[in-house]
Amino acid sequence: MKILVTGGAGFIGSAVVRHIIDQTQDNVVNVDKLTYAGNLDSLATVSESDRYKFEKVDICDRASLERVFLDHKPDLVMHLAAESHVDRSIDGPAAFIETNIVGTYTLLEVCRQYWNGLNAEARARFRLHHVSTDEVYGDLEGSDGLFTEQTSYAPSSPYSASKASSDHLVRAWNRTYGLPVVITNCSNNYGPYHFPEKLIPLMILNALERKPLPVYGKGNQIRDWLYVEDHARALYKVLTKGSVGETYNIGGHNELENIEVVHTLCDLLQELVPPSSSQKLDTVNHYRDLITFVKDRPGHDLRYAIDASKIERELGWVPQETFETGLRKTVLWYLDNHDWCARVQDGSYQRERLGAGVKA
Ligand code: NAD
Repeated sequence: MKILVTGGAGFIGSAVVRHIIDQTQDNVVNVDKLTYAGNLDSLATVSESDRYKFEKVDICDRASLERVFLDHKPDLVMHLAAESHVDRSIDGPAAFIETNIVGTYTLLEVCRQYWNGLNAEARARFRLHHVSTDEVYGDLEGSDGLFTEQTSYAPSSPYSASKASSDHLVRAWNRTYGLPVVITNCSNNYGPYHFPEKLIPLMILNALERKPLPVYGKGNQIRDWLYVEDHARALYKVLTKGSVGETYNIGGHNELENIEVVHTLCDLLQELVPPSSSQKLDTVNHYRDLITFVKDRPGHDLRYAIDASKIERELGWVPQETFETGLRKTVLWYLDNHDWCARVQDGSYQRERLGAGVKA
């Protein structure tokens, strides 16, 4: 199979590309605009494979997208390209409307035209897999329920509203034009190669530099955490085994308050890099001392939690990592991959590619 992946240089997209190249015999065409979130260093371990191709293309650019489809003739499409950071969507929603809504619309139209031109066998095989988030369901504050595939949409932020819009468009293209789509809605991911503006990598890198660990509000927001490689396996399973027109929720059964996540991280770092061992004149006794509470994000949802029983029951997927094992792997990865982090922090990842030297 040839799989066209949009957003394959991002956090989850790169995990998907590494999974396909390392664990299957399929080919990948990575279509990515390389925004600040796109990092080709994250693909250094697979980019030399003859089953991997890269196209620097904006999904809003219809002519270029059509050219990519004609050149590569994909069997399947996985759509992960998006603006993904909630805080950035509050500061500047325009890019979210453009990529997440207009970009998804453009991809749908290009897929529809391409799919209509395929022979019967290729048409039957074709799938567009739209990758979305649990944030479209809104806030579970005051409820001990879980998001199911039937939960009504009630997005709170410009990010989640733009993702909800894209989900609606994808469903409409299936219902109206018969385009064979599958949709997944996943909880918060964490793991290696995560851009350091997100909670877990930000806390690890700040702690190592003895900078404050900023926690929103009281840190009592609850998220359901999933290790990114478990997500990549789930996505490949839905792409290849999911039923057309269906939605699958993906989650890790790891509901934790943000402050619990930060405490667990601090304790892990305390065990792995005790402060005095790494700096002679260390001002910190315990990494927990660096925690500072900052003004909460406007419209911050209090609780998200996923019911992942459908994908477990119908497709036999279950996460392999617990939060403890996944978080330990993540911290060890950040400790081992100083070059990747330094190049993100000094911006050089956007100027030139690191060779195959990045550790897996
Ligand atoms: P990310 O921000 O790390 O990566 C997004 C990628 O898309 C980047 O490589 C970027 O360059 C690319 N991109 C952005 N605009 C583009 C455009 N116009 N054309 C082509 N490429 C473009 O995001 P992520 O965390 O990897 O998330 C991937 C997908 O998964 C998103 O759709 C997101 O909504 C969804 N999701 C993320 C999470 C999470 O916890 N990170 C959870 C559930 C769902």
